[in-house]
Amino acid sequence: VSQFVSKPTRVMSPTCVERGEMDDGKPVWAPHPTDGFQLGRIIDISADSLTIEPLNQKGKTFQAPVNQVFPAEDDVNKHVEDNCSLMYLNEATLLNNVRVRYSKDKIYTFVANILIAVNPYCEIPKLYSPETIKQYQGRSLGTLPPHVYAIADKAYRDMKVLKMSQSIIVSGESGAGKTENTKFVLRYLTTSYGTGQDIDERIVEANPLLEAFGNAKTVRNNNSSRFGKFVEIHFNEKNAVVGGFVSHYLLEKSRICTQGQEERNYHIFYRLCAGAPEDIKGKFHLSSPEAFRYLSRGCTRYFSTKDSDKLVPQNRKSPEHLKAGPLKDPLLDDHADFNRMCVAMKKIGLDDTEKFNLFRVVAGVLHLGNIDFEEAGSTSGGCVLKKTCGQSLQYCAELLGLDEEDLRVSLTTRVMHTTAGGVKGTAIKVPLKVEQASSARDALAKAIYSHLFDHEQELYQREGLGVNEVHYVDNQDCIDLVESKLVGILDILDEENRLPQPSDQHFTETVHSKHKDHFRLTVPRKSKLTVHRNVRDDEGFIIRHFAGAVCYETTQFVEKNNDALHTSLASLVSESKDKFIGELFENSNHSKDTKQKAGKLSFISVGNKFKTQLNILLEKLHSTGSSFVRCVKPNLKMVGHRFEGAQILSQLQCSGMVSVLDLMQGGFPSRAPFHELYNMYKQYMPAKLTRLDPRLFCKFAEFDQIMKSDPDHLAELVKRVNKWLICSRWKKVQWCA
Ligand code: ATP
Ligand code: MG
Repeated sequence: VSQFVSKPTRVMSPTCVERGEMDDGKPVWAPHPTDGFQLGRIIDISADSLTIEPLNQKGKTFQAPVNQVFPAEDDVNKHVEDNCSLMYLNEATLLNNVRVRYSKDKIYTFVANILIAVNPYCEIPKLYSPETIKQYQGRSLGTLPPHVYAIADKAYRDMKVLKMSQSIIVSGESGAGKTENTKFVLRYLTTSYGTGQDIDERIVEANPLLEAFGNAKTVRNNNSSRFGKFVEIHFNEKNAVVGGFVSHYLLEKSRICTQGQEERNYHIFYRLCAGAPEDIKGKFHLSSPEAFRYLSRGCTRYFSTKDSDKLVPQNRKSPEHLKAGPLKDPLLDDHADFNRMCVAMKKIGLDDTEKFNLFRVVAGVLHLGNIDFEEAGSTSGGCVLKKTCGQSLQYCAELLGLDEEDLRVSLTTRVMHTTAGGVKGTAIKVPLKVEQASSARDALAKAIYSHLFDHEQELYQREGLGVNEVHYVDNQDCIDLVESKLVGILDILDEENRLPQPSDQHFTETVHSKHKDHFRLTVPRKSKLTVHRNVRDDEGFIIRHFAGAVCYETTQFVEKNNDALHTSLASLVSESKDKFIGELFENSNHSKDTKQKAGKLSFISVGNKFKTQLNILLEKLHSTGSSFVRCVKPNLKMVGHRFEGAQILSQLQCSGMVSVLDLMQGGFPSRAPFHELYNMYKQYMPAKLTRLDPRLFCKFAEFDQIMKSDPDHLAELVKRVNKWLICSRWKKVQWCA
């Protein structure tokens, strides 16, 4: 089960005119700025536009581009579980179907075997109950209402039948429900196919702990995952759950030191401050979040009570939350969440010592953040710790098992080796300026926290199908712009980091000059979007992604791309007296790398790390069968029962759903690799056919004929495969179970 954004494609569905479906007076779907589409009638036709009269505003007409008007179903209030059973398959009927279902609390919809999940932002009674879990076990896709459980069960059955690992790819924008749906899948599989032992619970309970350290409140989601994750569930030869593994990808490290307006640092910090028992608070010198610089830089403004009336979910709306003080977000109950987290820690088998170790390091990071510097006032040009920070230094050293004096020196100086004639000479301590010392401190905090976070871890088959008719926008050029060797933006950034004096501005200028005429890249000032005009040209660039243009402001890019620690700081922590801290850094390349290049602040590329991790993930995915869950965020206010059509439409377009519809309309309801069909059917076919290779076999086998002549096989086959299959000569065959 993985959560990541897949490489999407966007296509337009066949329109009314192209499909010749513009009967006189029949209602059509025409564009609407906020709802996505509105019902109307075509009054007049010109070369490239249509005159539309909205059904609910007789006499008022407007023009719409020909390619944005679609045929509507006869009954627009009807909804179907699988969008493919509609008469007209296009983006407008898909949106309408999803809308009608959402209004009835039916948040899941199939488009063939792809599941669309719209975030309800409220609890839907019984939707995930143990009884519901039971219902879905062993049932073919399409025999019960669409549900993420149906997808989980299909993946499980495919694994059993095909003897092949399966992936469920959950995608969608921030707040769309990826994390929640992934948790439901895990719960479903462990409940249904677990052995009833500890391990089932552990797989499920690993989540709250990961979320404590890797999730944070952002403006888009109060519980936003700031890392990608790949969850593996391992089954034994009897197809029972025997283990699990979570890999995570690129934690957002900058959040550890600074947060955006109205955003917070990782949950764990606030939970510890709010919920830790008094003795732990005393031992770790914890107080309220305002006392810590790393926690008080973002979330300083609060929703007014009026707003929070709208925003606070019913189950969290207690007067206590509403009068919560600064940094206590009214939507989050840090105290209760601390207790829940401790229960989860226990369930996954962490003992008290391990738990305290985690908390101790978290507290150490907070005290580290409070260490501040001022100019030394001498001729050295260096800096010293501010007088008021003595206690923070002492607490930090104590909690991380470091020598106080060593920490002070390592934070304010850097060790360099003199060289003469290429020979390494004596080590000298170079004083750091205030800003240098501050970034060294932040780099240390990020390194410690991310090591802590890393502590529990480490598509389609192209078989020459004739699907050329599908028009999709290939975004390979965009990927190349970012990723390609030497001239790609990531490599340019790495180059900048290696310069003696790297700067964000110089990096930005290089990007512009290397891609002056690139169709995907432009400078902010030239942008038509006024919102980007206040970004200077040397402060950013705009990339036209498939889903729209994004302005990247490059401030801090150079700093954020560097994972390296000063040699002295890296060896300081790796040699900590504290066993736990020492172990955190023991096996990391980090300390090895920095030691090798002693004397110089080496550079460890964050961009490159990300690229490598993604490639490993893609390799894993390619070796498995896949199912897809496309999560959709219904509105920006994050409230229930509010369907913002235009927003949702753009998510459906960008998730590739519209291209899927196009395939379906063309008569390919689902795709299966030839070898899969071959394996499934060979036992029912004459020998002269089974001798052929899978591709030819599929070409000549008349599956539907066999179904008719031998109905006994039907029941068996329906049990094994999806309701729809691509069958003989890619002709659509519908089976009735
Ligand atoms: P991010 O990319 O920011 O991590 P996400 O896609 O993982 O976002 P979630 O954290 O899963 O989003 O969902 C956001 C919130 O929406 C949840 O905290 C929960 O309140 C609500 N939510 C999501 N799915 C459901 C659901 N099926 N039922 C009820 N509430 C839900
Ligand atoms: Mg998430």
